[in-house]
Amino acid sequence: RAKRTGRGHFCFCEPSMMTEVAERRSMETDLRSALALKQLELHYQPQIDLAAGRTVGFEALLRWRHPLKGNISPALFIPLAEETKIIREIGDWVILTAAAEAARWPDPISVAVNVSPVQFQGKLVHTVASALQRSGLAPERFAIEITEGILLDESSDVLSILNQLKDLGVHVVIDDFGTGYSSLGYLRRFPFHKLKIDQSFIRSASDSRDCAMIVKAVAGLGKSLGIKTTAEGVETEMQLDYVRAEEVSEVQGYLTGRPMDAGSIGAFLAQEASRP
Ligand code: C2E
Ligand code: MG
Ligand code: MG
Ligand code: MG
Repeated sequence: RAKRTGRGHFCFCEPSMMTEVAERRSMETDLRSALALKQLELHYQPQIDLAAGRTVGFEALLRWRHPLKGNISPALFIPLAEETKIIREIGDWVILTAAAEAARWPDPISVAVNVSPVQFQGKLVHTVASALQRSGLAPERFAIEITEGILLDESSDVLSILNQLKDLGVHVVIDDFGTGYSSLGYLRRFPFHKLKIDQSFIRSASDSRDCAMIVKAVAGLGKSLGIKTTAEGVETEMQLDYVRAEEVSEVQGYLTGRPMDAGSIGAFLAQEASRP
């Protein structure tokens, strides 16, 4: 954005642009120390199995409590953490913390963590192995969520890393399914445990026939291939009825439970158990 100044010159440094750059720098500096200062926290959102009618797992979601700026959304700071590679350190902490937390939950309730492509260039397998070892969590109670984009990276060892994770016994889930790339070839190359149907399709399923058909198609794909499916972002009874009718395996959304802090999980599960 160039701004015309008095004499026909252009100034490329609008104050607002300066602020943006400075803002990013300061956020980067703050992010580097966020872990050490214990400003990062994991919240957990329940995943409900529709056939069983109860919680079978939780997804770990990062929260950053900034002392001055308040809560910063992961949608804002994860991209920055990835660009700066700070995600490697944060990602390791997420894996270790989520496994330790889940080991306290009733068996066989599982935990899923989001893993960034950047972590695939690091010591992901080692971190997952030590998280399991330290926590004593059974590997099948631990899942990693990856997005489709990472599977297209032919040059890297993604498939080999996924196989090493499978050998550890942990589950691998595809997140935001349908928003990335339409090549389904990767579904043949690796035994994914679950496909999470992106919330944009669920949200629009009631007013867009196309979205409704995409949800139906992914549910069918999962059934045919023997891969579980999760409907993400279910907010209304109508959406729940729809995904249930399509025999989606699980739901995760505000309707069935918002992300909560670790201390609230016990009460959540107890309340669920007391319901008929
Ligand atoms: P995601 O993995 O697809 O996580 C689901 C997001 O949808 C979460 O947003 C969750 O709070 C939100 N959500 C769940 N149910 C509903 C609903 O019914 N309605 C609406 N509107 N939203 C719902 P959140 O926590 O803000 O996280 C955003 C994204 O940030 C995540 O998307 C994930 O890609 C990333 N992220 C979060 N934690 C981590 C992490 O530990 N590591 C990495 N690499 N990425 C993370
Ligand atoms: Mg996820
Ligand atoms: Mg998702
Ligand atoms: Mg996402």
